Amino acid sequence: VDEKLIARFWSKVNKSGPVPVHLPELGPCWVWLAGKQDCGYGKFSGPKRATVAAHRFSMALVEVIPPNTCVLHRCDNPACVNPAHLFLGSQADNMLDKVRKGRHRFGRNDYRGSRNPQSKLTESDVREIRRLHSIGAKQSLLATRYRVVASLISGIVARKLWQHVD
Ligand SMILES: [Zn+2]
Repeated sequence: VDEKLIARFWSKVNKSGPVPVHLPELGPCWVWLAGKQDCGYGKFSGPKRATVAAHRFSMALVEVIPPNTCVLHRCDNPACVNPAHLFLGSQADNMLDKVRKGRHRFGRNDYRGSRNPQSKLTESDVREIRRLHSIGAKQSLLATRYRVVASLISGIVARKLWQHVD
């Protein structure tokens, strides 16, 4: 491990960033101050001018990142490199994370398809849950992302619940 490289990395980070509103227990974001990628991720130039996403570099300092694994943000702040705010996920988990963020932007209108006002999920949610599960999304993560209990997700993917949705 190259200590100089690591010191250079942390010199570009402000550890007194905003605290995520939806998860205040995580504490402050560590905000990347240098260049950013189009998607908002921090961009860190390592040796030989190779650039890596700053949050991946940060995560790699504390945990081995297996191949084909994404580093995702619990805090929804793409510039954040706080390892406590990051978690590893599959490509499907990453897609799911994007779906959830899109949902936040669309707000309540996204729920219009549901007939039952008590129901937290819509028919399209159910189809998306089954699709994401079929390509490897973890049930526990689906439950977290859709803010429902895990037993509901397992019922949906086993087709014991929401049987009227194909
Ligand atoms: Zn953060």
